[in-house]
Amino acid sequence: MAKIIKHSWAEPYKIKMVEPIKVTDRPYREKAAKEAGYNTFLLKSEDVYIDLLTDSGTNAMSDYQWAGLMMGDEAYAGSKNFYALWDNVKKYYGMPYFVPTHQGRAAEHMISKIMIKPGDYIPGNMYFTTTRVHQELAGGTFVDVIIDEAHDAKNTHPFKGNIDPNKLEALIHKVGAKKIPYVCMAGPVNMAGGQPFSMANLKEISALTKKYGIKLWFDATRATENAYFIQQKEKGYEKKTVAQLLKEICSYFDGIWVSAKKDGFIATRNKKVFEEARNMVVIYEGLHSYGGLAGRDMEAMARGIEEMVKPENISMRVKQVEYCGKQLESYGIPLVKPYGGHAIFLDAKQFLSHLKQDLFPAQSLASEIYEDSGVRGMERGLVSSGRDPKTGEQRYPKLELVRLTFPRSLRQEKEN
Ligand SMILES: *Cc1c(COP(=O)(O)O)cnc(C)c1O
Repeated sequence: MAKIIKHSWAEPYKIKMVEPIKVTDRPYREKAAKEAGYNTFLLKSEDVYIDLLTDSGTNAMSDYQWAGLMMGDEAYAGSKNFYALWDNVKKYYGMPYFVPTHQGRAAEHMISKIMIKPGDYIPGNMYFTTTRVHQELAGGTFVDVIIDEAHDAKNTHPFKGNIDPNKLEALIHKVGAKKIPYVCMAGPVNMAGGQPFSMANLKEISALTKKYGIKLWFDATRATENAYFIQQKEKGYEKKTVAQLLKEICSYFDGIWVSAKKDGFIATRNKKVFEEARNMVVIYEGLHSYGGLAGRDMEAMARGIEEMVKPENISMRVKQVEYCGKQLESYGIPLVKPYGGHAIFLDAKQFLSHLKQDLFPAQSLASEIYEDSGVRGMERGLVSSGRDPKTGEQRYPKLELVRLTFPRSLRQEKEN
């Protein structure tokens, strides 16, 4: 029997504009799913009732951000919004150098090209789709050095995003520090179910990489959520604000990149990498002072950074996810624990335990959920993990998940 769970959060805003959505019935959705080849990425957004595919570019903006759009300075060079965004990157992430890019993968492309030589190895805390592809395209090999607990949906370790220092050191001994240009850390780790790393782990990995002269880079796409989890779960950090923790986290890294559809850019303390990235962005994205972004969007992003560290915004976001997770669990639905920061991840292996992995349990579950309810989630299993570029063999990830992602109600995004 499902029990009623009270809200532990309330939205710190009111809604003043609504967008109508289409209400469909099951036969309609069955037809739409069939036409999409049972792939939720190929559904028309019009046919979706609640879209939980991603939080990438799907978030509502605040009135303060919309007002910022009107302040767009669309000068080709030296837009004032570029300087506003740079100022906030310095202020909130503590990184002196900054290059805007139109999306996270553009930043990943450039960082991979600048840092990786063919034959290099890039250790990371579980792969992310676009991150790994760019590392491979640059001639590198990604090596997963996340703790074993992360590969087990049922394990409730509070920091399943941690890097295992033994795995990392073993790799360094095996291939040599010279073959490792940087360690790539993400937090919270998306593919593990939105799992954070701890400050203690970050300090340990920072000391280890320094010892061997290896750089440490951070996919800071959802860094404020990681900061919030540290504040909530790690001893000694309860009294620090999310803004303080974000800056402290970044202080251990040589550089960061952020997905522009969620937050946006490359920032670093390494002047040489900065100069190379600034030259490269002109070729691939646009002049260094807009990097493919409109001036008005940079203004909205600059304002979004100020809003994302506000305690009421970040706690609402994470608690909303937790609330949904608790409700689903009370109905006996198998999920990844602990709950993630930006999404709930359904465990398709347990949910559809009669399906072997090569029958795509997560893809099937995502499609069934859509047909049943009109809610669109995303497959994060066999299909996402793709094939090995050298052997062409299908990769079999331990986790077969369906992600139900919560778009942010208050967060910067690019217009699209
Ligand atoms: C979305 C995402 C990216 C890629 O960013 P885009 O803006 O979609 O290109 C990189 N890293 C993580 C962790 C992401 O979630």
